[in-house]
Amino acid sequence: MGQPLHLKAYAKVNLGLDVLRRREDGYHEVRMIMQTVKLFDHITMKKNTCGKIRLSCNLPYLPLNEKNLVYRAIDVIRNTYHIKDGVDADIEKHIPVAAGMAGGSTDAAAALVGMNQLFSLGISQDTLCEYGGALGADIPFCIMRGTALCEGIGELLTPLPSIPSCWFLIVKPSFSMSTKFVYQHLHLDNNTKHPDIDGMISAIREENLIGITRRMGNVLEQVTQKHYPAIGQIKNDMRKLGALNALMSGSGSTVFGIFPSKDAARTAAEHFYNNPGIRQIAVVRPFNKSQHSKPKKRRAFHERER
Ligand code: ATP
Repeated sequence: MGQPLHLKAYAKVNLGLDVLRRREDGYHEVRMIMQTVKLFDHITMKKNTCGKIRLSCNLPYLPLNEKNLVYRAIDVIRNTYHIKDGVDADIEKHIPVAAGMAGGSTDAAAALVGMNQLFSLGISQDTLCEYGGALGADIPFCIMRGTALCEGIGELLTPLPSIPSCWFLIVKPSFSMSTKFVYQHLHLDNNTKHPDIDGMISAIREENLIGITRRMGNVLEQVTQKHYPAIGQIKNDMRKLGALNALMSGSGSTVFGIFPSKDAARTAAEHFYNNPGIRQIAVVRPFNKSQHSKPKKRRAFHERER
């Protein structure tokens, strides 16, 4: 039924992650600098006549039912717009799972954008972000993409200018991390070292890469480094191998380093190839929104591949 739609669902890293407090409803109030990176899952969507949502995925352990965020995103749009047709969605995962890179959230963001295109619904980006926010706090950012300050529980977005040219080395250890576990074990007190988020925003506005990397910090590392010293080890290795700085992304376990050149990032990546404690390695650029908003590419909010 019709042509399949091919979408790229990009991962994010947190250049800075601060937790201000735990709210009475259990959510944590955060201030984060989010950056989209060019590591992506492929999502292929197609209408079907059986009237059902059918998912497929290259990773056998991911759920293919309503537990998958892609299913929920498709379902919300079908219900809201009274769509009778079913949808087949194939998820080709490349983003590490349960790794602090918003893999599930970005797949859901792509699915919302894909439904809008597949059924020519003309939904505005703001409204898509509202549907996304109801499914997960990171989803509005994954719809918007680029560089942004995220506040509240992650849903209040302020777009920021693109960061200067650089390369990310992304290293996922063989262990995964549960976001719930990390937040449950986070204890904020007067000794908590908070990253300088405002300083980082200024450095971004000044296009000062050194100023940005100097202010990289993640308050959740105080939990994960205690339970998983390997995270601190990978960060140290990256710095010794020429990273301007290195940090755990989100609630982990992924660690990323920022390098001034592709060669430097690739050379550092070689160090991790034969390490049995490492599951995935990628060298990628930041996703720069202005490069993706030239008129000829504006037919879709998420870039179509073919
Ligand atoms: P975040 O950075 O937003 O905390 P994460 O990168 O730590 O997210 P995900 O990769 O999104 O974590 O996966 C978390 C859980 O979500 C997984 O254990 C998985 O079972 C579930 N999940 C549901 N849908 C997906 C999806 N499309 N891709 C990956 N995981 C999914």
